[in-house]
Formats: sequence, structure tokens, C-alpha cells
Amino acid sequence: MYINIPPTDKERIVIIGAGFAGLSLARKLAKSSYQVILLDKNNFHQFQPLFYQVAMAGLEPSSISFPLRKIFQKVKNVFFRMTEVDRVDTAAQLISTPLGDLHYDHLVLAMGADTNFFGNEEVRRHAIPMKSVSEALYLRNAILNDFEKALNVVDYDERQGLIDIVIVGGGPTGVEVAGALAEMKKYILPREYKELDCDEIDIHLIQGADCLLKGMSSEASEAAERFLSDIGVQVKLNTRVTGFDGKYVSMKDGSKIRSNKVIWAAGIRANTIEGMPEEVITYGRRIKVNPYNQVEGFSRVYALGDLAYMEEKDFPEGHPQVAQVAIQQAENLAKNLKKNFVEPKEFAYNDLGSMATIGRNRAVVDLSRVKFQGFFAWVVWLVVHLFALIGVKNKIFVFINWLWNYMTYDQSLRLIIRPYLPFGKKEKMEKVE
Ligand SMILES: Cc1cc2nc3c(=O)[nH]c(=O)nc-3n(C[C@H](O)[C@H](O)[C@H](O)COP(=O)(O)OP(=O)(O)OC[C@H]3O[C@@H](n4cnc5c(N)ncnc54)[C@H](O)[C@@H]3O)c2cc1C
Repeated sequence: MYINIPPTDKERIVIIGAGFAGLSLARKLAKSSYQVILLDKNNFHQFQPLFYQVAMAGLEPSSISFPLRKIFQKVKNVFFRMTEVDRVDTAAQLISTPLGDLHYDHLVLAMGADTNFFGNEEVRRHAIPMKSVSEALYLRNAILNDFEKALNVVDYDERQGLIDIVIVGGGPTGVEVAGALAEMKKYILPREYKELDCDEIDIHLIQGADCLLKGMSSEASEAAERFLSDIGVQVKLNTRVTGFDGKYVSMKDGSKIRSNKVIWAAGIRANTIEGMPEEVITYGRRIKVNPYNQVEGFSRVYALGDLAYMEEKDFPEGHPQVAQVAIQQAENLAKNLKKNFVEPKEFAYNDLGSMATIGRNRAVVDLSRVKFQGFFAWVVWLVVHLFALIGVKNKIFVFINWLWNYMTYDQSLRLIIRPYLPFGKKEKMEKVE
């Protein structure tokens, strides 16, 4: 069985994944001489940098997601299919999906990455990741659900398990989540859960390395640590989490923290698919590519973004797995494809800088020539993220939300909405904590 796509004389480019890389490439190839087939397991693009705000009930999921079909409404040569690609047969130039197979002339792997639990099955089973809108919503429900339960729990230890939260990983995601939780504890929970002693809530941020925000400057790391301690987050550096059984988080040094909720932001692992030869897969399951993003040993199979491992002079261990790399690689590949790889241009990453926000009014920003922290950095963070969002409506909604939150210290999105499950599955659902 084949996926039903209109026949064409044009060369066909199949792009797997409509994240920053895949979507940018498909947009750049709109109205080109290729037939472009964009495949994703979701029918929307997700803006990952703001997942944490969905998880912290600061933004609605729809504000940071964009329907893919809408983007290509008026584009004749781009076709979207919602499906999850299972495997690739590079000899036959075929990919397999539950919808059927599909032949390609060019194949672009842009499936991004997923949470890395580093083989710790116990942690994988109990910790909450944040690599999709669904996971962010699950986390929102879990946090709110536990506060609701905590009101009825008199036993101190059991209550601590419900209200204390451990975040593992001190990169931008961990730091941003910790900051947002601390704000929630300070401004929102005392008003809404007034019977609860909010001073009992502990927010722990555990980092394996000796500083936070490892890829950023020492000024940014130090400022982030200072900002977090100012707002009451307990930061532990040089500490490795070795286990989490759903009740206690265990550290390598033998210490334990009582908490039912661990947010796992400690690492990612590329999403490869069956059929790619093992020789091209390297550390973190990334796929080795040459400076044109062609997968080693293939001229018509490419990998982009988080999934791609390319060594460049200034990045001898591969590029950082961030949105700008994905977007810029897609733009370069689009240019090379449009001129049929005649005198192709090598990829050169233009590092625009990195940033992270820590609650309201505080952020850290590292640009190539200047580094700054504090209020101005926070304004820069807001503007950059607002402009990076896809869709005018999303930009306006997020802006209004942020303005409202800023003025009122409130978001009003703390609804626990669970997915409906048919009879028979309900009992299981009700047990979801
Ligand atoms: C919580 C969080 C915060 C972040 N914050 C920042 C930030 O502030 N700044 C920054 O620059 N970067 C940030 N990042 C990293 C950034 O989001 C990634 O680097 C970027 O998304 C990579 O783009 P990509 O296109 O390679 O992959 P993604 O954007 O992850 O896209 C991959 C796509 O592939 C689809 N897919 C996966 N497997 C399949 C399959 N088998 N079949 C079909 N579809 C599939 C997925 O549904 C997804 O749409 C953050 C990431 C996370 C998780």
C-alpha cells in the first residue's frame, strides 16, 4: 500500500518532521520545482522554547502550536500527511508509515530529538519529560492535581511528596521551569490554596555539572544561580540523580529527596528511524552529515537540526541542539536543492547567541559581543520569543497573555482538563495522578 499523493513528473522531496528544520525547509521549497511531501506525527508545529509556560499554566497550548495545513493552504507543490515514519529503505528509496509506503527522490530526516533518560528505566517510568505539548499539559495537570490533593492530606511526609517538586537538569529548560514554579509559589498558590502553608513547598533544581547553563558564559551561569536562589529555588550542583521510584529521588551521594514529581530536563537523544545504517549514527543517536547536511555515504539523504551531527571549525563536537541551527541548516539546504547542488554552499553556523529567563524581570543573555543579565535581558528574551512564534494570532495572544500576567500576577489557566477515555478505560484513567 502506498500513501495517496498526487502523481507528478517533478522530483519528490520527502521531509520527515515539521519542527524548526523540516518546516523551514518546506516553506523555503514552496513554489520550487520539487514536489514536497511533509510528514509529521502531529498536525501542528510546536514551539518548544515555550513548553514550560504551558506546563506552568501560563499559556494555552494553542498559543504555541500552529496548524501545518494552514501554512500551506495556498501552496500547490507542498503536501502534508500526518503519520509517524517507521522505517526507511535507502536502497529502494522508500519510507514506511502506517498510512503506507512512499517513494522519494530526496529524503530529509528532521525528526528532532526526544528525552534522554540515559537508560534508567525506573526514572523513565516515573519522571515527567517535557518534549511535546502533550507532555507539557500532562505536567500542568500533575502539578495542579497534586495541590488539590495536598489540601486534604494531614500527614506531613505525604503532603511534602505532593507539593515539593524536583527538576533534574540545569540547562535553559530546567532553569526556566524552576523560575516559573518559584513565581507560582510566591504569587499564585498562596491566593488560591490559602489553607496550604506555601512555605512548605520546596523547589529543587539538581544539576550534574558544576554550574547552571553549561553552554553559556560564566556571567550567565552565576547570575542564573543567584536569581534562582533569590526566588527560593534550592539549587544543587555537582549532583547526579541515580533513581526515582515515584516517591523518593535518589542521588549518587546517597542523599534522597521526598517528592512525587520529577521533571526530567537532563538531556536529549536524537529520534532516528529504523533502516539508517549504524555507521552513520554517533553520540546521542545523532546522524553524521557532511557540510551540506548530506548523510555520510548518501548524496540524496539529508539530516537537519537536532538530529544532525556536523563538525565545523568552531564547533568541533557538533552544533548545539537549538532552533537557530535547525533553521539555518534548512535554509542552506533549500538553497542547495534549488540549484540542484551545482556548486553547493557549505553550512556555516551564525551563532546569534543564547538566553534563558528566570521568572519575571530576570533573564540572562549572551550575544557574540555583549553579555547582560537582569531586567533588560528579560525584555530582550520576551521580544525575541514573541517574534520567533509562528502566526500573527499566536504573537498577539501570547503578548496579551504576558501583559495580563505581568499586570495581575495571574494567568487563570489553571484548569485540570483530562482527555476523555471511553468506558472501561475510565477506571485506569482515574488512577492517573
Ligand atoms: C523545553 C524545550 C525548550 C527549548 N528552548 C529552546 C530555546 O529557548 N532556544 C532554542 O534555540 N532552542 C530551544 N530548544 C531546542 C529547540 O526546540 C530544538 O533545537 C529544535 O526544536 C530542533 O528543531 P528540529 O527541527 O531539529 O526538531 P523538532 O523541532 O523537535 O521537530 C521534530 C519534528 O519531528 C516530528 N517527528 C519526530 N519523529 C517523527 C517520525 N518518526 N515521524 C514523523 N514525525 C516525526 C516531531 O513531531 C516534530 O514535529 C528547546 C527545546 C525544548 C524541549
